[in-house]
Formats: sequence, structure tokens, C-alpha cells
Amino acid sequence: MPNLTSEKVLAALRSVVDPDTNKDVVASGLLQGLNVKDGHVSFALEVSPESGRAKEPLRLASEKAVLALKGARSVTAVLTAHRSGAASQPRRATTNPQPQAGAPERQGPAGVKAVIAVASGKGGVGKSTVAVNLAVALNSLGRKAGLLDADIYGPSAPRLLGLTGKPTSKDGKRLQPMEAWGLKTISIGSLIDEDQPMIWRGPMVMTALTQLIYDVEWAPLDVLVVDMPPGTGDAQLTLAQRVPLAGAVIVSTPQDIALIDARKGLAMFKKTHVPVFGIVENMSTFVCPNCGHESHIFGHGGARETAAKLGTDFLGEIPLDIAIRETSDGGTPIMARDPQSPQARAFLTVAERVAAKLDAGDTRAAPRIVMD
Ligand code: ADP
Repeated sequence: MPNLTSEKVLAALRSVVDPDTNKDVVASGLLQGLNVKDGHVSFALEVSPESGRAKEPLRLASEKAVLALKGARSVTAVLTAHRSGAASQPRRATTNPQPQAGAPERQGPAGVKAVIAVASGKGGVGKSTVAVNLAVALNSLGRKAGLLDADIYGPSAPRLLGLTGKPTSKDGKRLQPMEAWGLKTISIGSLIDEDQPMIWRGPMVMTALTQLIYDVEWAPLDVLVVDMPPGTGDAQLTLAQRVPLAGAVIVSTPQDIALIDARKGLAMFKKTHVPVFGIVENMSTFVCPNCGHESHIFGHGGARETAAKLGTDFLGEIPLDIAIRETSDGGTPIMARDPQSPQARAFLTVAERVAAKLDAGDTRAAPRIVMD
């Protein structure tokens, strides 16, 4: 594979002329934030708020010009608007199976019908537990599901799924996913040395995550569930921009809803035009294993209220339950261990709602926000 350099990309972009100014996208200063790494290219075209959508053909032409280069494996071009004025709507390339009206299609991982993100405003809210059980539940609903543990800060799929060893590659280029509980799965935790703390810099994160999406033999899959890094920083934003997401599921505990962490997650996806499927309230009610008494240790119902207030859906509540913790941390998700249990049924309800969203191609319009 020939090495794709920034110079070659720039040369290609100099052939793309904006008919409004008769200048190419480089000379006119539209090009921003060019990033070229291992054949994966991303950049933005900064346009005025007024022109907004009218520049979409220019974005497409730029993407096409770079994609034609030898060694180009993926190209992500976005339109961003100047900060002044809020009239313009930034556009992003998307490969949602059911793209938003007027949105262009971009290639997702081959043979994967939909990629969904499971995200949270902060760590420790049970995002990974929900992602794993959601994937197993989707499988049990007859959707061929995979799980990508992209949580670079605390990869937990090996622990939650009881995985040991490392994924292998037949050709030295593409990784074979591992198999656990009927899921094809890859965890970034299986690829890095647990004892060697990693310092992730922005471009490294981008490259690693893009490779885990594109350079793994996922096919055939109906849905790839991505366990996102927690938070709403650059890594998450980049992932949401680079990976064609059909939708996002936000996980929150009742008390974090109060701290508006989940709201930030919601705003981030809306910013990147990823449909938010809804919010899951984790560690919702506590049922005493001895007497069956239900208590709401962290409060209860906040996610439902927040979802309603923010115009997104409530996908369900998962109880705070010792069996969930024990099965998760023991490498046997409750959905696999005891699919008839009330705890598993709670995950199944979430999965049914997510499956319905996927079928409906929920393309709720995102608000018009100008990217910083
Ligand atoms: P995150 O991915 O948000 O960091 P994890 O899924 O790793 O969170 O969960 C953090 C801890 O909380 C784990 O020990 C997990 O077993 C436990 N946990 C998650 N959800 C529940 C729940 N509903 N009931 C009991 N324990 C839970």
C-alpha cells in the first residue's frame, strides 16, 4: 500500500475549485484541520454560515478527489461554519443505514449493517455493562451483533466477557474478532499491555479507533455495538465524526442525570448529527436480595424526565443488582447467564427499543449548532 502523505492530499485538493470564488479549496483557505494517518484522511472545509448546505457539492468533490488517491483508505470531510452567526448547519458525512434526508452516504465497515455507540458523560456508570448486555440481547433477538470495546481509558470487555488472549490476523493486515457469548468482539484492552500505561494523543486515538472499526473482519453483522470512551471530549467527538453511526445510546445513573453529564453526551451527538436513540437509566432501583424491598438509592426516574425534557426517548431502566455486578465482573453477562431473569429482561427491553429504532431509521433532526 503506497504511503499517503499530506502533500499528496493537498495536491489533490488543489484540483477542487469552488465555483463561487474560482479558487481551489486550499488557496481559498477553506481547508482546516487536515489529518492524514495510515491512509485515513480527515479535514474540514470552513464555510460561512450563510453558504452552509450550498457547499455540500464542494465537500463531496473534495472527498472524492482524495479518495481517488492511491493509498486512501477512508476520507472524512466535514463542513464547519464560522462562529459568527448561528444560521448555518454543519454537515458531516454519514453512513447511517438510513441517512438523514439530504445527507450523503459514506462507506461504513464492509458487511456491517449498522454501527451504534453506547456512551456516557463519565466513567463508572455501567456503560460497558450495558453495552455488553445490549449486544448479547440484540443477538438473542435474532440480530447478528458484535461488540467493539473502544474505551481506551478503561477497556473492560475482556473482563466482562471473560476473554483471554489476543485477536489474531490471517493476513497480517486485518484482525479476526474474538468470539464470546455469540458475539464477535474486539477490545482495545486485548491489544495493549495492561501494565504499560498508555498516553493517548488525539491522532493516535483516531487511528486506533478507526482501525478497530475498519480493519477487523466484522462481516457479516447486523449491528456493531461500540462501547465508547466515557466523556464528551475530543476522542469521543472524533469517533462520532469519523465513524458512521446509526445512533447512540446514552447510559446514565440517576445521580449523574442530576449532574447533567448525560446531557453533555446528548449534545455531542446532536452536534455531530448522530441520531440519539435515547437514555438508559442504570443502577435505577435497588431490590433487596433478602426481602425484595425496592429502594431508590440514587433517586429514580431522572433519566425518564431528562429524556422527555430534552426531546429524546427513554430506553429503559436497569436495576442496581448484585447479580448484574457479579455476572459482569465474572465474565458471564447476565443476558447470557440467565436470560429469563428480571435483570436480563430489563436489558432485553432496552434491546427491543434499540432494534425498533434501527428498523425505523430514527433520523430525528438535530438542532442547528455551529461547530467551534
Ligand atoms: P463504565 O463502563 O461506565 O465505566 P462498568 O460497566 O465498568 O462502567 O461498571 C462499573 C461497575 O459497576 C462494575 O463493577 C459493574 O459490574 C458495576 N455495575 C454496572 N451496572 C450495574 C448494575 N446495574 N448493578 C450492579 N452493578 C453494576
